Formats: sequence, structure tokens, C-alpha cells
Amino acid sequence: PSRNTQRIRRSDLMNPSHATATPVSHVMTTSSSRNITSSTGAAVNPHFVSDVYSTGRGHTVPAKPHRNRPSSKMSAEQFRATISLLVNSSDPRRDLDWFVKIGEGSTGTVYTAHQLSTNRVVAVKKMSLWNQQRKELLFNEVIIMKEYPHNNVVTYYDSYLVDEELWVLMEFIDGGSLTDIIRRVHLQESQIAAICKSCLEALAYLHSNGVIHRDIKSDCILLMSDGTVKLSDFGYCARINQKQRRRQSLVGTPYWMAPEVISKQPYGTEVDIWSLGIMVIEMIDGQPPYFNLPASEAMNCIRTLPPPTSKSPEKISPRLRDFLSKALVYNSEERATASELLRHPFLQFASPPSSLSKLIQFRNTV
Ligand code: ATP
Repeated sequence: PSRNTQRIRRSDLMNPSHATATPVSHVMTTSSSRNITSSTGAAVNPHFVSDVYSTGRGHTVPAKPHRNRPSSKMSAEQFRATISLLVNSSDPRRDLDWFVKIGEGSTGTVYTAHQLSTNRVVAVKKMSLWNQQRKELLFNEVIIMKEYPHNNVVTYYDSYLVDEELWVLMEFIDGGSLTDIIRRVHLQESQIAAICKSCLEALAYLHSNGVIHRDIKSDCILLMSDGTVKLSDFGYCARINQKQRRRQSLVGTPYWMAPEVISKQPYGTEVDIWSLGIMVIEMIDGQPPYFNLPASEAMNCIRTLPPPTSKSPEKISPRLRDFLSKALVYNSEERATASELLRHPFLQFASPPSSLSKLIQFRNTV
């Protein structure tokens, strides 16, 4: 199925033409089908979930605001004031021209623009302050990339309040998403290893800083034309620390969600490793397990069946099979960590970035 990688709005619930694959971040109020979130900690009504998913699959659903969470109660003025403390107070419009829309998600629209002061092309994500399922998630859009710079994380440049919008300026990643590549090209194992290695470098770094991405899937992996792999889309991140070691919200995209998330068990950084395992299956099979099922049924399968594997396990090497079996472990305590997977023999066969660069060039020709 074609995959819409953006979140959809409440109004889209009514529109069955959105039967595509996008993240869902608020089970109770949106209905995109590829990801669900309910960071409520409160139980998500499974009937609602199946209603949500009957409109399509593959979207992220934003979590319901938590009744006891102060940010959910923030007034519009408080919210604006808090955001304004985080962003650059100048007006970026004088320094930007030639806006070209390159993508749209549930939280905002992404453009390329020419930055006059640096004479470079930048990506600008424009997000309405108010037209959000969970406006407090916008803090993530500014904070995570800014506070956690890494070679495999999209580089943050600056952010601004422009009228009633939050603008985040970041590096423009010119090679498109991994989803685009998977759709058109069959990846070699050495290329899968190279992509996994870069993603795991980013995840090991974020996890060591208590950041859980919560929405790992091929749509969030962007590639530069030189073959560098970058993790993006931090809108659904959660932080853990000494005070709050686990999270419980139903957040993510159904087909990539870890069993403990679906079961509403307290969870930690391990959920990203499960999702990475599912993304490896995407790279092998072209789509995640159970993708032909409605999201609610897929979630049920993830919760009740043994961990999935590739549709054609005989076609993959024992090394890759073993790598997958270390990531897709039902019991999160027994699942490998990002640092452990980085030492897995499968990654020793990672091809250099130049082979990913060729992949992008080839993708452009098919
Ligand atoms: P979603 O609903 O999928 O979470 P979103 O509202 O968070 O979407 P993004 O996924 O961040 O929006 O971006 C929307 C589109 O813009 C995607 O197709 C993505 O590949 C593209 N995009 C985002 N950031 C960049 C960037 N820095 N460089 C190039 N393309 C980008």
C-alpha cells in the first residue's frame, strides 16, 4: 500500500480517502493509521482504536493530553510564553526566501528555503501553535535536535515564533527517506547493516541521554546524497530520568510498536530497539509484518504472537537472522540494547556510505 508518512488531523477521520500509512499520535482524537500515541497513561479504548484504524493504516496517532500533566492545562498565553523562551526572538523571514514545500506531516509542513546570511539551502518546518492534537509535543520539535546534536541526527539550526507558528530551521537532507528507497530498490545486507549501524549510533546516544524516540520506522530515516543516514522526526520523543524511569503512554505507529507499548506496560528505551527490528524487516520484505491487516488486528498479533521475522527467512544470512532475533525479543528486559547491537557481527559487514549514496542515485532513476 502507498504510505502517507504524515499524521492526519481530526477532520481527516471523516475522510476515508486517507486510507494510507501514517503515524498516529493521539488515539482518542486523531485517526492516522501508521502510528498511535496515547501518552495519557490512561487506557486507550480498543474500540476507538479499531475505529481509528478502519480509516487506514500507517499513521501516527497523537496521545491524549494527560489530565494531571501540567502542560496539558497550560493556557494559550502560558504555552506561547514558554515556547518563546526556547526560540530565537528575531524574525527569520528577512533572511529566508524561495520557500518550496517538500512535505507535510500531522504537526506541520516542511519547506526548503534559501538562507541569505549563510547562502545555504535549509529545511524549515512550520507548525501551527494551535492546530495540534497535543501542543506540548511541539517542545520536542525544538528541544531534542537542539540538545542532542549527533552525526546521525538531523542538525538543528534555529527556531522562531512567526505569528502563530513555530518555525524550526534545520539542515536539508537531500536524499529523501528510507521509505522511498525501500519502495524502489532491493537493499543488500551490507547496506541494511550500514543503515542499522548509523541508526543505532543515534539511538545509543539518545538512549544514554534518557531520550526515547518512540516512532522509529523507515519514514523517520532520511538519507543525504553522500550516504549519511540521519534520524529525524522527534515529535513523539519521551524522556526518562531518575525520577521517571519508565513511560506508559500508547505512542508510536501500530505496525512498529513494541508489545509492551501495546500492552500498556511501563516501558523504556527498549521500545526503539523493537521498532528498529521491525524496520529491518521493512528493509528485507518491503513492509513491516502484518501490514496487510488493519492496525488494531496487527497490534493484537504483536501483543499475542511470538516475535515476527522476515517473510522469507531462508533468503537472509544467519548473521542477519541472529541480529533480528536479538532486537525482536518479546521480553524487553532480554532485548539487546543499542550499544550491544552495535557490537553484533552483522554490523561488521556494513558497507561504506558511498554504497548508500549509489542507492540514492539509483533510486532517482527508477
Ligand atoms: P509525521 O506525521 O509523519 O510525524 P511530521 O508532522 O512530524 O510528520 P515530518 O515527518 O517531520 O513531519 O516531515 C514531513 C516531511 O518532510 C517528511 O516527508 C520528511 O521526509 C520531510 N522532511 C522533514 N525534515 C526534513 C529535512 N530536514 N530535510 C528534508 N526533508 C525533511
